[in-house]
Amino acid sequence: MPVPAMLVTWSDLTLRAKLWLSLAGMGLLVIVLLVLGERVIERSMAALDEAVSEQVKPLARLNSLQSQISRIRVQEAELPRTTDLFAMSDQVEMLDNEVRDFDLSLGRFLDAPNVLAATEHKSLVDAWQRYRSDLRRIGALARAMDNTRIASISTYESVQRFRVLAHTLRVAAERTSARADDRLADVRRAHDAQRLLLMAISAIGLMLLAAWLALLARHLTRRLSGLSRAAADLAGGQPHVPIRISGGDELAQLGQAFNTLHQRVDEREAALRASQAELESRVVARTSELHAANLALTHEVGVRREAEEQLQYQAKYDSLTGLPNRLLALDRLHQAIRDAERGGHLVSLIFIDLDDFKRVNDNFGHEAGDALLVQAGNRLLQCVRGNDTVARLGGDEFVVILGGLHVLSDANRVAEQVLASFGRPFALGVDEFVVTPSLGLASYPADGTDAPTLLRHADQAMYEAKGAGRNTLQYFNVAIRERSAQRVMLEARLRGALERQEFWLAFQPLVEPVGERLVGAEALLRWRTGDGQLIGPDQFIPVAESTGLIVSIGRWVIDRVCELLADWREQGRHDLYIGINVSPRQFRDPDLVGDIQAALARHGLPGSCLLVEVTEGLVLGDSRDVRAMLERMSELGVRLAMDDFGTGYSSLSYLKRYPFDVLKIDRSFVRDLSHDADDKALVAAAIHMGQALGLQVVAEGVETSTQLDELRAMGCDLAQGYLFGTPMAADAFAARWLGSERRRSELETVVMDQQRVA
Ligand code: C2E
Ligand code: MG
Ligand code: MG
Repeated sequence: MPVPAMLVTWSDLTLRAKLWLSLAGMGLLVIVLLVLGERVIERSMAALDEAVSEQVKPLARLNSLQSQISRIRVQEAELPRTTDLFAMSDQVEMLDNEVRDFDLSLGRFLDAPNVLAATEHKSLVDAWQRYRSDLRRIGALARAMDNTRIASISTYESVQRFRVLAHTLRVAAERTSARADDRLADVRRAHDAQRLLLMAISAIGLMLLAAWLALLARHLTRRLSGLSRAAADLAGGQPHVPIRISGGDELAQLGQAFNTLHQRVDEREAALRASQAELESRVVARTSELHAANLALTHEVGVRREAEEQLQYQAKYDSLTGLPNRLLALDRLHQAIRDAERGGHLVSLIFIDLDDFKRVNDNFGHEAGDALLVQAGNRLLQCVRGNDTVARLGGDEFVVILGGLHVLSDANRVAEQVLASFGRPFALGVDEFVVTPSLGLASYPADGTDAPTLLRHADQAMYEAKGAGRNTLQYFNVAIRERSAQRVMLEARLRGALERQEFWLAFQPLVEPVGERLVGAEALLRWRTGDGQLIGPDQFIPVAESTGLIVSIGRWVIDRVCELLADWREQGRHDLYIGINVSPRQFRDPDLVGDIQAALARHGLPGSCLLVEVTEGLVLGDSRDVRAMLERMSELGVRLAMDDFGTGYSSLSYLKRYPFDVLKIDRSFVRDLSHDADDKALVAAAIHMGQALGLQVVAEGVETSTQLDELRAMGCDLAQGYLFGTPMAADAFAARWLGSERRRSELETVVMDQQRVA
């Protein structure tokens, strides 16, 4: 049935009207309850009044009649004892008055709406008339002063009548009293019943009110939560589900406005997408137009189409391995995350970097390197399911995307397979070569919820795997992110540190074990940041290497060392040389040898003043370039040292193949020399073999005289360590070792500072 236009329904009302109406309803209920209460009280009062006038007043009158009659009897009894005539006439008059009063009182009592039964009424009237007739007789005898007759009547006759009357009055009083009690009990019962009724009505009313309020609150909260859900959806970019609108109050208007807003946002977004798509398609169209135009100049019609397809392919695939490239990998990762979001799955990303891949290029040439990358890609493909993605990000970096996983152990299994598959050597022509991978694993949703974050975290985990010794798998965790952030921070502070002159060099003496004569020093780099913090080389050198900053820092070291050597030579110490540490990254700088040569020339020094310390990692790949650089250094007269010997491959063949002059035995062997027989044998062997190859052997990290004694006995050529001196600033070194004794005490604090750094 259509609702008439004038009829306003509840849901059409405004929120304010609904609240006012509810308040008015509550007020009305309270007023009704008050009126009902008032009526109950009024009724009880009326019933009480009635009971009082019906029962209590007659009782009082009966009591008064009883006392009146007692007085009359007393006066009657007095009369026979009165002998004086005047007194007698007074007494009689008083008695008459009392009798008249009693008559009147009794008449009023009997006339009033009476409580006495008809029989009681009659016996009362009869008893009074009999007693009154006796009193009249007595009154007449008293006027005649016949005291004897009065006494006789009073004693034998009227006393009987009096007793009957008094008895009748008492009985009537008792009955009336009993009836009054009953009546009052009735009134109380009626009152209790009314009160109960009122309480019941109040309780029902309050319950109705509470139910109404609860309904109203539920109605409002439901609609409000609908609105807040819609707001959250809008903020979260969820698709638009319109809010259901009912009625016309403020909330309904708000919902309506919200729907409109959401719809507008959706429309704008759609419009934006459309224009973005159009823009993209225009760009694509324009690019392909350009390509087409370009191709048209050189190719036939059929050839052009092929080339176009080729171009599109190249945009997404790596031309060497045929695997998806970085762009397509990110796209696939993004897609896998979206699928996992919907299906509640996991996605794992394994970041793979080949260890020391550069060696392959350096040793076997780029063609061999390319062949290895293709083989590596194929091995990765064999470790995954058909719908997983193996992609090459560039260089020797690959990723594996594993979507739709239920447990992380599945990803772990694939990673283990990858590690195992690289256990076999790669065949490069007639040569075979083992290349190990370092793996970093990050998973959606625990380690990141978008593709770039997941990629970054897997990369950071891979970096940790490298630090943990390579050829291993590392899961991403928060600590890795923090370390990586610290590395980034360190990197930021390291940039410009050279310009800000935050570096300085510490020098540690190199001595002969017999006689402890000084032959030279090793220069060790120190970094004091702007805020006074000392950062050790173990921390910042790896960062300087990975960023390439080590090249310029190393150049500064060379120049600073040459400057100091020139200073020492001016003081007559032509015999001393200084060892500098040169990292593999510096050897990738083609100017390295030229820089050393220029620094020597600038300070007028012979090459023999310098000892260049390199680690085994540099010569492992047997690169032609490195060999050439070392040979050029050697030609300059610069001496070469193999540093930290014993910690890497410890291959003596390298010592033979390269122009090394010095062998530095790593301090980890020297440390346990006196109590580890194996270490002792190793140190002895290294000394003898090194010397047999014509090298001077240096023991690093000599801390105790026992160690020194052992080394002396083994015929070790040189020693370095805290036993002779910790690394110290140039001034302190000169004061301690070049005979400037005068300044020693001044510099004691500086020395202590250096010791703390070391
Ligand atoms: P390294 O070339 O093997 O230097 C010797 C390290 O052993 C120094 O650590 C030195 O302080 C420490 N050392 C010396 N005697 C003792 C001893 O008796 N006991 C113990 N426990 N340690 C001793 P430092 O200065 O922390 O340098 C660490 C590494 O950083 C160096 O190892 C070197 O590889 C690198 N480094 C230092 N300065 C440079 C630099 O200018 N350029 C490059 N590329 N690397 C540098
Ligand atoms: Mg060194
Ligand atoms: Mg060393």
